[in-house]
Formats: sequence, structure tokens, C-alpha cells
Amino acid sequence: MRRGTTREGPGQDMRQTVNTFHSTRSTTDALTSKQAIRRGLASDGGLFVTDSLGERTVDIDDLAGLDYRSIALRVLSALLPDYTHDELEACVRAAYGDQWADPAITPLRPLGDDYVLELFNGPTSAFKDIALQILPRLMARTAPAGGDPDEQIMILTATSGDTGKAALAGFADAPGTGITVFYPEGKVSQIQQLQMTTQTGSNVHVCAVRGNFDDAQSAVKAIFGDRDLARDLARDSHVTLSSANSINVGRLVPQVVYYFSAYAQLLARHAVSPGDGVEFVVPTGNFGDVLAGYYAKRLGLPVKHLVVASDRNNVLFDFLTTGTYNRKRPFYETTSPSMDILVSSNLERMLYYMSDGDARLVSMLMSDLSRWGAFEVPDELLNRIRGLFGCGWADEHQVDSAIRDCWERNRYVIDPHTACGYFVMRRMPRDPAVPRVLLSTASPFKFPRVVSRALGLDAVGTDFACMDSLAEATGTVPPTALRSLEKAPVRFTDVVAVDGMTEFVRGAAAALV
Ligand SMILES: *Cc1c(COP(=O)(O)O)cnc(C)c1O
Repeated sequence: MRRGTTREGPGQDMRQTVNTFHSTRSTTDALTSKQAIRRGLASDGGLFVTDSLGERTVDIDDLAGLDYRSIALRVLSALLPDYTHDELEACVRAAYGDQWADPAITPLRPLGDDYVLELFNGPTSAFKDIALQILPRLMARTAPAGGDPDEQIMILTATSGDTGKAALAGFADAPGTGITVFYPEGKVSQIQQLQMTTQTGSNVHVCAVRGNFDDAQSAVKAIFGDRDLARDLARDSHVTLSSANSINVGRLVPQVVYYFSAYAQLLARHAVSPGDGVEFVVPTGNFGDVLAGYYAKRLGLPVKHLVVASDRNNVLFDFLTTGTYNRKRPFYETTSPSMDILVSSNLERMLYYMSDGDARLVSMLMSDLSRWGAFEVPDELLNRIRGLFGCGWADEHQVDSAIRDCWERNRYVIDPHTACGYFVMRRMPRDPAVPRVLLSTASPFKFPRVVSRALGLDAVGTDFACMDSLAEATGTVPPTALRSLEKAPVRFTDVVAVDGMTEFVRGAAAALV
């Protein structure tokens, strides 16, 4: 048996091994959660998982009165056992504070006979804030003892919109870190572009790339694999590159918290008693949002079903209904761009756990995916998966009608990503004994043109004009950070070709010192 470093678990004598993280594709690594967060991706291309998931559970009996931070502390302690209580408390306090528009952080609201859990009250008005407000703080505490004391981590990311801004907001002025974001020129919305190019902070860099998102993404991957560059950056600027992308354990784990928070709020409303099952309907593309619900279940939350809601890029729907995952299919640019994904990375973690940790199987499936563009899971595994995960999807016409229907029935405005979930939820049979919670992933004001048009308003002029007419027609108020972008000074105007990205990274690293 592998020997790991040990420490005292809270309130127990038994020494507990914390070096339990390894790749989904092999079990040879034995990393702590700090090491897994620092590395991001395993060297064989797999994602970090731990076989200890669920060994420490989170008590649900007394959740009702707890605030978000207390729940976060319990959940993170269970999932990141090598962080001390004080470290996690400091991270949680800083991440879930006044930068959120609602003191509940993820407030639960009634929606007809169902509920909606708002995940968009953070500084960038999208659900990625939940993870990216805390990731930099977790990352800052991963420096190995005896390592280069001057080492700085530079986060490098290519974005199709939401991730870039949420990462910028999280890492801006975070000690020991810098961040560089590339976005495809002309391919993000006016609001999204301004959100990034007006970002403040002394350690941030933003650059447009001539090309599409895939070009930028592939170039970023190549930069991560460039050993000469890595050597130069370490020698000249003490900079190590890292990723804030949704495969990092440090992004997944904070998302588990809002499932517990939803349950706590249901308990407080007497909508459930401890132990009663709940169903979650989850707009997802990369499978991160919904996988966190699976982790919550493994920690003891009574999750009855997790419903995967997709947009027209319905590769997950096809997988969950047939057992075949096939990424060789047309790619659609929809009105829910953050779910326009053909390779759903976090699915790999679900396959690992649902196959009882069969790393060989996962490795084979992933090699089929990269070789043939497709893989097929055994029937038995598919049946197990289907026992927990439901699925559905909405095309753009259905998204528009869902936005309208939700407004007309509930006087509640939803964004196009949430609308995919709403549409799927409305089509499902409802069991009155099992409360349903729809996760809402973005503020409708992030997509004011699409939402205004869906509601039959005049969607003309700038995104800001659309925001104003949406606000007026629905009696709602746009988040200040979004509305004030119109007048915010633009700091970043660089545009590079794909082959100029490496040079840009060198410059950004040099500027960090
Ligand atoms: C990222 C994102 C999603 C999907 O999240 P996954 O990590 O792919 O599950 C859904 N909605 C919005 C608004 C997002 O930004």
C-alpha cells in the first residue's frame, strides 16, 4: 500500500491519508488536493479524482439555520482534507462576502410549484463566480514547502465568454498570481467583451485573438505543453503557468456547496424534512455544474435525480439515451454560448465513479474518443447512470418560448441557459412528493438582446439599450457592474494572430515581476 502524509482528522484519532488524488485514467499518482489543484490536469490527460469521495459525509440534520459560508466550510473540509480549518475559513470568508449581491450567495426562490436556485449574484453575473471567487484563494495556499519562494502562478485561459471574465474577477490582484485571458476577436457579445477589456487589477492581461474559440483554445493547450517556454518563464520571471479551467478540482469542489445550500433553504422553508429526496435540473455543457450535484449525493445529500439540460448541442442527451458519446456532429452557435460544447470534459469523472473506479475502462473510452471521436459504454453502466441522471434539451425556438412562458407564469425573468433547464423541467412528469430545483446560471441582463426579443420587446440598439428596455418592461434592475460597463474605461485593446500568443504570454509574465 502506498504511504501518504497523514494528519489528524477533525475530532477523530484515526490518522487519515490525504494523498488520495490520482488520474481518472490510472491510479499510480498519490497527490494531496493542494497538489491536484496546483497541477490542474494529470500528466496522462486524465482528471484528478479521489477514491475517498464520500468517506467523510456532511451532516444534513442541522443545515436549516446555517449560512452559506458555514455550509461551504463543512463541504470543503470534507473534500479538501489537507487544507487546515483556518485556511479554508479564510478562503471562504474572502470568497463569499460583500462582492455578492445577495447575502444568501445562492438564494432559493419559489417558481410556481418548483424552485429556482440563483447562482448568478456574484461579481460577473454568471455561475462561474461561485468557483472562481474561491479558486485563487485555494491556489495561493498550494505552494509546496521548500519550493521557490518567489514563484508566481500565471493563470492562462482561452474563453468563449463567461469563464474569462469570472477568472479575471477572481484573480485580479490575488497575491502570488497573474492572469492572462485570450478571447476570439468579434466572437463574444458586446457585454462580454467590455466585461473583460475593462477589468481592473495590476496582474491581469486580456488579448483578442484573430480566429475562433477553438483556435485560441488549441493554442493555449500548445503553450501549456511548450517546455522551452516553461523553462524561460521559470528562469526569467519565476512564473509557472496554470489553468483555471473547469477540469480543475478547485473549480468543481466549490460548486458542491450550492446543492447543500439549496437543501438548507428547502429545510428552512419546511419544504422538506431531513432525508427527503430532491430533484435538481441543471443547465450544463461541460458537465461541471451537474457533476457537483453527484458529489453532493456522495457526501450524503438526498439527491433523487439530477437532470442534465442541454441546448441544441445535445451530445449529452444522446449519450444518456443511447450509451454512445459521439462528438462527430455539427457544432451549433446558439443563444446559450456557455453550453455550446461537444467534448464534455467532466463527464470523465462521472464515468470513473459510476464504473466504481475502473480507470482502465475510462482510459479506453477516452482513447476511443480521441481516436474515433466516439465511445460506447457497456449497457450495465449505462443503466446505472440512467438510474440517477435524467436528460433533456431545448432548441433555440424552445429557449425563446421558455423565457416567455416563465415570465408569463411566474413573473420571473430567466436567461437563455437557464431557459434550457426550465424547458426540460416543464416537460418532465412532476412527483408532488419530490421538490424540484432549477439551477439558474446567469443573470438575464447578461444576454439582454436575446431575452428582450423572447419577451417580444424591441431588441434594437446597443446591448445597453436592450438592458434598459428589459428592465423597464419587467420592473427589474440590471446588476450595477453590467449596466456601468457602458462608461467604464477600456484598458486592453491588443489583438494578436494565433502564432503571436506565445509572445504575448512572455510579455505578460515579464510584467508580473
Ligand atoms: C459555464 C456555464 C454553464 C455550464 O456549466 P458547465 O460547467 O458546463 O456545467 C451554464 N450556464 C452558464 C451561464 C455558464 O456560464
